[in-house]
Amino acid sequence: MGTVPPLSYSGFRAYSECPLRWKLMYIDRLPETPRGYFSFGRSIHSALEELVKPVAERSPAALTVVPGGKVQRTLRDFDEAPAEPEPASAGPGAAIMNLEQLLEVYRRVWVSEGYLSPEDEKRNFDLGAELLRRYHALFQAAPPNAVAVEQHLDAEIDGIRIHGIVDRIDETPKGGLEVLDYKTSKELSWQDARTSDQLTLYQLLVEKNYPKAVEALTLYHFRTLTPLRTEPRSVEEVGDLSTRLGEVVDGIRSDVHEPRPGPYCTRCDFRAICPEWKEVPTAERRNVEDLVERYADLKRQGEGLRQEMEAVASELHAVSDRLGVHRLPGRGAIVYRRKETHWVFPAEQVLPVLQDAGLLPRVSRLDSDQVARLLQDSKVPVDVRRSLKSRGSRQAEWALRFEGNGRRRTSKDD
Ligand code: SF4
Repeated sequence: MGTVPPLSYSGFRAYSECPLRWKLMYIDRLPETPRGYFSFGRSIHSALEELVKPVAERSPAALTVVPGGKVQRTLRDFDEAPAEPEPASAGPGAAIMNLEQLLEVYRRVWVSEGYLSPEDEKRNFDLGAELLRRYHALFQAAPPNAVAVEQHLDAEIDGIRIHGIVDRIDETPKGGLEVLDYKTSKELSWQDARTSDQLTLYQLLVEKNYPKAVEALTLYHFRTLTPLRTEPRSVEEVGDLSTRLGEVVDGIRSDVHEPRPGPYCTRCDFRAICPEWKEVPTAERRNVEDLVERYADLKRQGEGLRQEMEAVASELHAVSDRLGVHRLPGRGAIVYRRKETHWVFPAEQVLPVLQDAGLLPRVSRLDSDQVARLLQDSKVPVDVRRSLKSRGSRQAEWALRFEGNGRRRTSKDD
């Protein structure tokens, strides 16, 4: 794949969970089955957007968004050019729609697909209306100092383009920014807010776009009307997310789209076409069963042989040590004992070099033998090979080689 589209939080999470699912969603664009909880969340988000947007637009520090979701002005513009004085009637409170208007908006934006039954849909609709009533009362009593709503933001971090739509940005009493994301899920904890990658990504986006500091990150649990407010992420935490974003982009660029089965398979729409779950056709079943049984038998025999060979090799090493002899003659073969050296590379030492040189895709699980092969590869720049070499060490161990029946082998062959 050439260029990688800007990575959103949803795309990042989808790829991290399962690269194949990401491909089916974002490249093949296969539709997902509508689900009631997604529809419920979309409906609440849309109603809140219409409630809060007029307040944000009237704020002296507001961002103005043009159709298409592009940022027209930034906070920096407001800092450089002081805003016109607000008319006496302006202010957050003056712009708030009343409850009836809010419920009218809610009815208009309600998404009714994906519910289990008309009763299920009605139950959810009534729940949303009740939550909006309570939220409206809180909102009216103490309007937030919102400065942006449903804000589309883009940024580039270490060559990775990221994109996000931030539910709400408030100005804090100290003049910094608070990033909020509404959640309509049933359960939500402080730990979720503390570890949310989504909030970390939004902090990155906001910091890249505005000159003001992010002072708080909040998941707003709408079912309990509770703001789960946390400190902004540390430099290390932001760096950790950047590294994982980079790994995802590397995987996408390298066309790595293997299925990664896990707990999310239960709610995946693509099980019928996923190689991990697709059923063997009936006509092929017998043949496949025979092959599987034969393979399992051979694996068991192979494991038994491997253990036996290790035991015999260990006896040969002991005899060789005891007699001080390295050439051990048999009846039809000869075993030689040789000291062989091989490279050992500590993963944490070579990881940054491989990352910087874009060589990670060639080294699965940071295997030392694979890193050693890079040292022989003339296409790898000399300074990279030198740097890798300086981080590894050579270790020696005894190996057995044998000659017999016209073939020379080592004990490592097996
Ligand atoms: S069923 Fe599981 S492994 Fe297969 S595509 Fe879906 S999430 Fe990935």
